[in-house]
Amino acid sequence: MAGMLYLVPTPIGNLGDISIRCRQTLEEADFIAAEDTRVTLKLLNHLGIKKSLVSYYEHNKAFKGDKIVERILSGETCALVSDAGSPAISDPGEDLVKQCAAAGITVCAIPGPCAAITALSISGQATGRFCFEGFLSTSKKSRREHLESLQSEQRTMIFYEAPHKLLPTLEDLRDAFGGERPISLCRELTKLHEEVVRTTLAEAVARYTENPPKGEFVLIVAGAEPEEKAVPTETDAAARVMQLMEEGLTRKDAVKQTAKELGLPKNVVYDIALKDSE
Ligand code: SAM
Repeated sequence: MAGMLYLVPTPIGNLGDISIRCRQTLEEADFIAAEDTRVTLKLLNHLGIKKSLVSYYEHNKAFKGDKIVERILSGETCALVSDAGSPAISDPGEDLVKQCAAAGITVCAIPGPCAAITALSISGQATGRFCFEGFLSTSKKSRREHLESLQSEQRTMIFYEAPHKLLPTLEDLRDAFGGERPISLCRELTKLHEEVVRTTLAEAVARYTENPPKGEFVLIVAGAEPEEKAVPTETDAAARVMQLMEEGLTRKDAVKQTAKELGLPKNVVYDIALKDSE
């Protein structure tokens, strides 16, 4: 009988945010796979839990993933944790979930702390539709391509960023979306110095140029305003009918095509065309 993989979210600052179910799962698992065993050991010591730990991080995940899958297939239960927040969200873990799913192993995600959702909730930006963009690449070309692909994005956008890269990222966001675009900078969430700065991209650049950023940040950027659809005028309709007739269409066909192209009722275009020909 195969075991299971549990994804166990851990606090992003406030240790009180560990849930009863997460605690129980860590206690009951056969072993814990952790991004950084030293970080997880501190949490386990705080919770008074003693458990066998294996490391699973970006640079050993290809090799360690196979070992973990083997152990689960032999009947053991694994709890996966990252340094903070929800495993598999901009954290190692995504690949382990894929590997386990492919091997037919049941994966159970326990709900809990996630920096992106915590930040979105208090951002004051629209939360009805949003997209998670994670970290921007360190390669200039991919960053530019990524931001270009978001220029007409109307949903609220969520970005993660490390403090030492915050200022260049804010500059890139300002260049891609314009200085007036609203942004909420959510810093040190659930910690003593938690802060939300609701401002514009231009002002955020000015602010952090003057005071270098400290701590962890989630950036919540407002989506683009919907473009106003130009309403076709009578003159547009008349001109298009005339043009199509000059190209050889009958008045009836020119009216039909113009109505289709401009999204207007045929009889309206017909009246406009008639008036124009009088
Ligand atoms: N998987 C984690 C999650 O979804 O909560 C995120 C891990 S990712 C490697 C780390 C990034 O999450 C940081 O660079 C920062 O952008 C964000 N983050 C984590 N903890 C935070 C906190 N307490 N306050 C603000 N941002 C935080």
